[in-house]
Amino acid sequence: MTKHIFITGGVVSSLGKGLTSAAIGMILERRGLKVSMQKLDPYINVDPGTMSPFQHGEVYVTNDGAETDLDLGHYERFTHTRLTKTSNFTTGKIYQAVIDKERHGDYLGRTVQVIPHITDEIKSAIRAGVTGPDVDVALTEIGGTVGDIEGLPFLEAVRQFALENPPEDVLFVHLTLLPYLRASGEMKTKPTQQSVGKLREIGIQPDILICRTEKPMTQEMAQKISLFCNVRIERVIEERDVDFSIYEVPVNLVAAGLDELIAEHLHLTTGIETDLADWREMLAHIRHTTRSCEVAVVGKYIELHDAYKSIYEALSHAGIANDCKILVRKISAEDILSEGTELLEGVDGLLVPGGFGERGIEGKISAIRWAREHDVPFFGICLGLQCAVIEYARNVLGLAGAHTLEHSPHTEHPVINLMEDQKQVDDKGGTMRLGAYRCEIAPGTLASRLYGTDHVSERHRHRFEFNNDYRETFQGSNMVLSGRNPERDLVEMIELPEHPFFIGVQFHPEFQSAPLSPHPIFKGFVEAALEHSRGGNTNKVAAETMA
Ligand code: GLN
Repeated sequence: MTKHIFITGGVVSSLGKGLTSAAIGMILERRGLKVSMQKLDPYINVDPGTMSPFQHGEVYVTNDGAETDLDLGHYERFTHTRLTKTSNFTTGKIYQAVIDKERHGDYLGRTVQVIPHITDEIKSAIRAGVTGPDVDVALTEIGGTVGDIEGLPFLEAVRQFALENPPEDVLFVHLTLLPYLRASGEMKTKPTQQSVGKLREIGIQPDILICRTEKPMTQEMAQKISLFCNVRIERVIEERDVDFSIYEVPVNLVAAGLDELIAEHLHLTTGIETDLADWREMLAHIRHTTRSCEVAVVGKYIELHDAYKSIYEALSHAGIANDCKILVRKISAEDILSEGTELLEGVDGLLVPGGFGERGIEGKISAIRWAREHDVPFFGICLGLQCAVIEYARNVLGLAGAHTLEHSPHTEHPVINLMEDQKQVDDKGGTMRLGAYRCEIAPGTLASRLYGTDHVSERHRHRFEFNNDYRETFQGSNMVLSGRNPERDLVEMIELPEHPFFIGVQFHPEFQSAPLSPHPIFKGFVEAALEHSRGGNTNKVAAETMA
């Protein structure tokens, strides 16, 4: 029998609800339980795939090709659960299913309504999110903030879900904020009281309150929150801002006793104590490392950290593996165009992430040329690979004006072209080459050394590809096409063996990196950057330290 935990958020958004949910999933796994994780998003888009990264941050892609909310990235980084298409539902997806059923005549002439039809669909989505019969605990995070109009059907559905299940099988965790008022030097409980009040109006009584705070929560405050929110005092938990790494969150929650509280409420007795030994050891490494190297990330959405969330996380995992701090110099690709490659001076590595649209592309190409010519380690992901191919075609192979058909439909040398099966596609949502595909690695290459195997599976999200008409031209040069999808003969990886470290991949390796199992290419890239940093160069200005 699967138990369910529902996680809601109050007062404001951006409280780290995704992170807290992921951390809860992790601490339960560390007690020997099998968990599944799910996010319900109240917005109307069917999925975030068509939203601008500026609106929504990165789109996280699952193995089975779902384009999902970036919180799912936290879930996969913290737990062993692998997410699928049923791990993320939006209002749009729910309504689409209900409307399809209505058109099909499934409601037998009845009036279709929010209650019970939409709420029934949400409840079946919650059940579908339990990814196996052996799942002990299914966690469902509800996006948005309690009090939002669009979140109401989801909250109503989970209220019904609780009503229909034994009380020891369902747990409500509410994450809230205790704002600190600098002027009066005090923390306030009123917003928490009000947001719990909103939940109770809907019929949900939270079982556990997790209070985000900047300063320690006093016993007196906990007492007040307990009294006004109708939650026993030992179930009012503090979650203080972390010192140096988001990976501290599970450790702090266990220190606050959250694991025991959940186990007690849900009658989960495994006889196993939450074991975080390796995680604590990893945190000690992060805290005490004295080495560092600086990596430039040149992208289009650089102002927004969330737009490249998994990339920054994967870099930090590679930093942990190499026992070094990664200083990230975030550079807007357009600035390279206006201010030149001087912006890159002093970095030990260049990473060009994926992207869409023409803006900034020439800046990325210039940056890659600079890294190639200056022997600076380079790692290109998706559009980053495509830009590396264009740069090499133009500046080494002498193919003047070489470009991608995405931005230059009449180029003389379309070294990057539209994939065959994309030519008939008109709809934008969910139609790219998405999810995990196989990649064969050529022996004796950098890729084969890094992975230590000749076959991998990596996740994709693209419409364009290396143009195989140019394969021979490239094969006659110093660029090696080191990875290939066997089913469709697509180029998946390129590299320059004469360069200290130069690799481009058509897939998104950042989605398969975790703190204790860093992705091999990220790990190799950071190792090469460290090596580069030993050769001198200490211009560390404008860098942001990452744990
Ligand atoms: N825009 C490019 C394509 O569709 C690259 C996509 C990406 O970087 N995710 O192929």
